[in-house]
Formats: sequence, C-alpha cells, structure tokens
Amino acid sequence: MAATNELHSVDVAVIGAGMSGLAVADGLIRAGFSVRVLEARDRIGGRLQGSPLDRGASWHWPGEHRVRALAQRCGVETFEQYRLGDALIDDISGVHRYPGNPIDVPAYRVVGGTFALAAALAAQVPPGTIHLGRPVQDISSDLHIASGDHRWRAHHVVIALPPALAVHAIALPRELPAGLIDVAARTPVWMGDSVKVVAHFSAPFWRHDGLAGAAMSRRGPLTEVHDMSGPDGEPAALFGFARAASMHADIETDILAQLIRMFGPQASQPIDILIQDWSREEWTTPPVAAGLPDYAMFGHPLYQQPALDGRLHWSSTETAGSYAGHIEGALAAAERTVASIVSTTARGALSQ
Ligand SMILES: Cc1cc2nc3c(=O)[nH]c(=O)nc-3n(C[C@H](O)[C@H](O)[C@H](O)COP(=O)(O)OP(=O)(O)OC[C@H]3O[C@@H](n4cnc5c(N)ncnc54)[C@H](O)[C@@H]3O)c2cc1C
Repeated sequence: MAATNELHSVDVAVIGAGMSGLAVADGLIRAGFSVRVLEARDRIGGRLQGSPLDRGASWHWPGEHRVRALAQRCGVETFEQYRLGDALIDDISGVHRYPGNPIDVPAYRVVGGTFALAAALAAQVPPGTIHLGRPVQDISSDLHIASGDHRWRAHHVVIALPPALAVHAIALPRELPAGLIDVAARTPVWMGDSVKVVAHFSAPFWRHDGLAGAAMSRRGPLTEVHDMSGPDGEPAALFGFARAASMHADIETDILAQLIRMFGPQASQPIDILIQDWSREEWTTPPVAAGLPDYAMFGHPLYQQPALDGRLHWSSTETAGSYAGHIEGALAAAERTVASIVSTTARGALSQ
C-alpha cells in the first residue's frame, strides 16, 4: 500500500473496483502491465453486492457471451432463472393470477450471487493490486492521482465509475474537451435511482402454490417482483424494485403487507428483508443523477476513444458501445479499454 505522501509510479491506474475496473486490471496484468486499482469503498464489486443474496445485479441474459465466458474461466457456476408457474398482477381491483408467467424472460443467475464474479476476478490479480478505501479526488493533467494524502503517477488512467459521478466527485484534467465533460455530466447512472428489496424466506413456498414468484404491481411499494432463490430454491428469496421516492421510515411494514397481499400469509414471516437504496450510495449515484433522463448518452462515441493523447480512458458500463447498463456492458467497456492500451503501448515499455 502506498505510504502517505509517497509518489508511486505505475503503468495504469484504474479508478473503481467494480466489474469493469477489475476486468481492465485483469486484462492488463495478463498483458504485462503494472496496474493499481483505487477503490473508494471498503469492498470491491460496486453495483455487484451481496452473497448469496444479490443487492445489486442478478441476471445475465442469452447472448451475453462475455459474462458466460468469464464465469467459465473463473469456475463460477450459473443456473437458469426460475420461471415455472403463474404470475401475479396487483392493482387497485385486487391480485390477479396470470397463467404461464408472461413476466419473466429467459435469464441466468450466478451461484453465490453476481458478486462471485467480482470476487473471482479480484482473486486473479496479484496481491497488493487493489487498494480499498481510496476515493480518488483529483487527476492532474500529467496523470498524477490523489486520494487524500496518497499519490500515484500513471501513464494511463482508467475511469471505471459512472461518468456523471466522476465529473461530480473528481477534479478532472482541465484539458479534457468541454464536449466530453458535458456528455459525462449528462450520462445517467444505470439503476442509480433504484431501490432493490430482497425478502429472504425459509422456503420458496410460492412455488408449491404453482406461482413463479413473478409479479407486477400498480399499487406498490414494489413495482415488480421476481424469484431470487438460489439453485434448487436454496436460499429462498423474492426480490422487487421500488422507487427511491416511495421510501419512508416504515417502508418495511408496507413491503410486508404487499407481499402478504400477493403471496399469502406464508409471506408474513421472512427471515429478513434487505432494502438497498442505490440512490443514496455515495460511490454509485451523484446527487444530480435523478435529473439525468437521457439514455441516448449511453455508449456515446466520445467514450469510445481515449482522451488526453490516448492516456485517459472511460470504462464503466455506461460507456459501453454494446450492452450498456448491464454487467455484459461493463465487460465490453473493459475489453475496449484493454485493447486500446495494449495496441498503443509496447509491452513493458512504460515501466522503463
Ligand atoms: C439494483 C440493481 C440491479 C441491477 N440488475 C442488473 C441485472 O440483473 N443484470 C445486469 O446485467 N446488470 C444489472 N445491474 C447493473 C450492473 O450492476 C452494472 O452494469 C455493473 O455492475 C456496473 O459495473 P461498473 O464496473 O461499470 O460500475 P460500478 O459497479 O458502479 O463500479 C464503479 C466502482 O467505482 C468505485 N468508485 C466510485 N467513485 C470512486 C472514486 N472517486 N474513487 C475510487 N473509486 C470510486 C465504486 O465504489 C465502484 O466500486 C443492476 C444494477 C443495480 C444497482
């Protein structure tokens, strides 16, 4: 770990140890670069959190080959999302049962939760690569990076956090084109305004009632619900999304009442109800995020090429040219960043 005030030189400094930053670090270390990952939180994973119960991302979908390839390479098992049974619609006229679950689409889950993917990637990089509790506050024009009293100097810097958060929380080099800063400031944070609620039960009782665990609700507070149990129903869980604006001190009572209304009295005794309000996560969602509606900013052409003479790279899921917003997008952005740095740099040349 860098000692206070000591300046450490490194080929590439990656800011953020979410899926994208970890994948960049892994790819570049394999290519022979020296890499440090500076992470603000005291944990890795970013929007992948919780094990085995996901508080962030849960699914990947058919065609998302990067996630599948990563899971296979790291020995992380996946399984199909449970979809069997009927779905529920909850509205002012009551709770209605819809045969055949028209709500859930085919999707895959990760055994142990999606955090297992981040943990597996982190295990691939040499000890000492990832520095936790290091919120970057400043990137200078000559790529000196500051986090409190800690300093690094890098040949390449990778911004692997939501662009709007980077613009809000980090003093960026003043040479960056105004157009790029404007695009970054206007790029929404995917799911940054969402609240994920996980209800953990001792058994997936809804399955025994012929229910898929899938529901849409116009009454709330959960607007949609899905089965989030592990393989073979263990651990048993339902999850739902709520609006950040609907949160209040006693929201758990309202959530429980809704689950009982929809799934019956067996829903009255969860082991736990986890409420994760991502809009209040300082290292995911800047205060301005609620006013960022323009998803056309995702994968903007300005993110596809590095700035500052090819030395400053954008690499969160929001910057991906494909699958932006998804885990697959975080990996796609990382792939582009690694290719860009490797293609412009002779192996090992930076360290000399
Ligand atoms: C509730 C929810 C449900 C979701 N569901 C799905 C799903 O089912 N399927 C799917 O594919 N995707 C889903 N997503 C999206 C998915 O989680 C993201 O696409 C992916 O995790 C983004 O990875 P990332 O590395 O780009 O960004 P992040 O995970 O946000 O990582 C950024 C990292 O940067 C760190 N950081 C921030 N600021 C600083 C700073 N100043 N200095 C240092 N470090 C900093 C953060 O702490 C974080 O670790 C969901 C997201 C949420 C919130």
